Amino acid sequence: MSNQFNPNKPIMGRDYKPSMELGMRVQKKGSLPAHWIGLAASVVLVTSIFFLVTDNAKATRTNVLEDSNQVSNLQRTNTEVTLPLAIPGNSISSSAKADRQYSSKQSTAWQTASVKNGANMALIFARVGLSPQELYRVMTADKDASALKRLMPGQKLKFQIDDGNLQQLVYKIDALNTLHVNRTQDESFAVSTNTRKMETRVTNTTGVIHSSLFLAAQKAGLSDNLIMELAGIFGWDVDFALDIRGGDSFTLVYEELFLDGKKQRDGNIIAAEFNNRGKTYRALRYTDTKGISDYFSPDGKSMRKAFIRTPVDFTRISSRFGKRRHPTLNRMKNHHGVDYAAPRGTPIKAAGDGKLTFVGRKGGYGKTVMIQHGGKYGTLYAHMSRIKPGMRRGKKVRQGQTIGYVGSTGRSTGPHLHYEFRVNGVHRNPLRVRLPDAAPIRAKYKTDFLNKSRGLVALLDVLQRTNTTLALNDKIN
Ligand SMILES: [Zn+2]
Repeated sequence: MSNQFNPNKPIMGRDYKPSMELGMRVQKKGSLPAHWIGLAASVVLVTSIFFLVTDNAKATRTNVLEDSNQVSNLQRTNTEVTLPLAIPGNSISSSAKADRQYSSKQSTAWQTASVKNGANMALIFARVGLSPQELYRVMTADKDASALKRLMPGQKLKFQIDDGNLQQLVYKIDALNTLHVNRTQDESFAVSTNTRKMETRVTNTTGVIHSSLFLAAQKAGLSDNLIMELAGIFGWDVDFALDIRGGDSFTLVYEELFLDGKKQRDGNIIAAEFNNRGKTYRALRYTDTKGISDYFSPDGKSMRKAFIRTPVDFTRISSRFGKRRHPTLNRMKNHHGVDYAAPRGTPIKAAGDGKLTFVGRKGGYGKTVMIQHGGKYGTLYAHMSRIKPGMRRGKKVRQGQTIGYVGSTGRSTGPHLHYEFRVNGVHRNPLRVRLPDAAPIRAKYKTDFLNKSRGLVALLDVLQRTNTTLALNDKIN
């Protein structure tokens, strides 16, 4: 079903059910202890319905629609009035109205229950006059019904009830998903969730970095999520904490998701380029036949590496390009690693899959974790304020897994991560060492990947020219 949803209009009375027929509809009220007002105003129809229903009373009203051409007009001009129930301590308010769908045969009117703070399905079922047994049968009909356990204040539920029997229930879970419960022939319930598909539009942007990736990306209109995704794609090659220089630039081709013409959020990055200190990196998204997506260089190499370049969350690293201070970096021979100044408590991540070979205090290093990655590579993380509980010698860790937190234990002047990288036992500069690649695109997908990515590469070529011009103008100004 793909009915239009207008967020400015109330949910109630919207056309959720394709089974409703046009024509005439009987308005009927169950045993709800409340006053109900349903108002349908239409210039053409001059239809206005007014119900006053008290406890256990039933009122019916028939609206005859003479010309079905007027239905659309009616649907546009209908208004609804919702009166909260004047019952102390009640947790829902309800309303009834002439439904916008007019049926040629008699059927029961829709009621709407709004979810108030502290409401749950049991309360709401009781309020609209449905038994706990009915609720039990709905909840156990299908796993999709569990959405009804997660009601949020302000949400609305539409009920169609006939003589205390639930016929239909419609619950708009969010802008995209609507739950439908329908009584079946065999007196049980069919539960299903309709999911609307958002429209995907492809857009692109480009940016030049002056001080930080974040500022440049925000200037280019990127959301935080997209910035993180961008950093995630290139984070294997580029150290976003220490490698970024003024004049670095990026180009992004990405999806934006729309619903009824309104942008909902950013989608995936489908192609990207990052220029770091004169070196260009490109990444293309590819989804294989199993639906698994990953990023590859234009020649099909994985963008991922066996090691992440920055073992701390770079977004929390205070020192940025231009005002960074890492005096030890200049004397790599004496200093066996890289220091990442970061707030105390910043999570430290395992750079790659491996096995812990040391966990504990280690002289001037303070609280330290060492990881062996296969036979060739070793990493060391020092000065932790705290080692993550559960870390012990011999334990296996996954890449990206938190192993401890930034601190200043041992010989240290302030909170930072001291990070070492060893290849065959020899210290290497973690910023410069060539990291082994993760597996490239699988052979059986390679041709498809190259075919599909040709257009994206051409697009990046075009955008790169824009980018170069931008960077150039930047230098002139
Ligand atoms: Zn250090």
